[in-house]
Amino acid sequence: MRKFIVAGNWKMNTTVPEGELLANEIQTKIWHYDRDKFQLIVAPPYTHLATVGQILDSDRVKLGAQNLFWEEKGAYTGEVSAAMLKSIDVEYVIIGHSERRKYFNESDEILLKKVQIALNYNLTPIFCIGEQLEQREANEHFDVIKSQLENVILRLSAEQLSKVIIAYEPVWAIGTGKVATPEQAQEIHHFIRQLISEKFSSNLANDLTILYGGSCKPNNVAGLFEKPDIDGGLIGGASLKADDFLEIFKILIDKKS
Ligand code: PEP
Repeated sequence: MRKFIVAGNWKMNTTVPEGELLANEIQTKIWHYDRDKFQLIVAPPYTHLATVGQILDSDRVKLGAQNLFWEEKGAYTGEVSAAMLKSIDVEYVIIGHSERRKYFNESDEILLKKVQIALNYNLTPIFCIGEQLEQREANEHFDVIKSQLENVILRLSAEQLSKVIIAYEPVWAIGTGKVATPEQAQEIHHFIRQLISEKFSSNLANDLTILYGGSCKPNNVAGLFEKPDIDGGLIGGASLKADDFLEIFKILIDKKS
């Protein structure tokens, strides 16, 4: 069954004590909800994961990482492995965020390896795709999305793909305050589901969770979450304020119940 999810990407924000405060506030304010249908996730920086994981009740708020390395272990100074994340009860990992593609030159080839190691360790990848502004303006967004999927996600087996969450994040909407319209996002989400349905099956496509990301705020998510193929949000800036983050989750529950 398709799950509806709000995931918070804290990026490189908050010190550890500040992160603890934020996690405590989320933990204090989060309510009981239908966990078969909905999920709330936070992805703090690596340095915060262990302590934030201890603060959060994993029955209500799951722990995600923002990245991982593609090798099992060894001489890779500064990198963090899937086994390390697993050992502190991380359950999700963001892979292919546009900031990592841009600043760290993460190619589709690298991203496929990351998705595979995550799946091997039972970590759920939140795999991000999205076009740049110039690509949308040149009407290339469908081609970009198709190629990002073909080079990574569509190379997985059906069983592997059934364990992946996809996040459509138009790069021009990330951190810019410029949110995609519900129609623009729905059109791409539908396209993603169609591609997966063609390559695999409509059942698999229907069960997949496809999140929208890009300047989501409590005042703009209702229209997005009303759309049939938008199953929640990957939230950057607004996930740093517990009230805004939880309000977005509340709106999701309201729209999908
Ligand atoms: C993100 O980083 O995934 C994101 C969507 O950021 P923001 O919500 O700040 O645009």
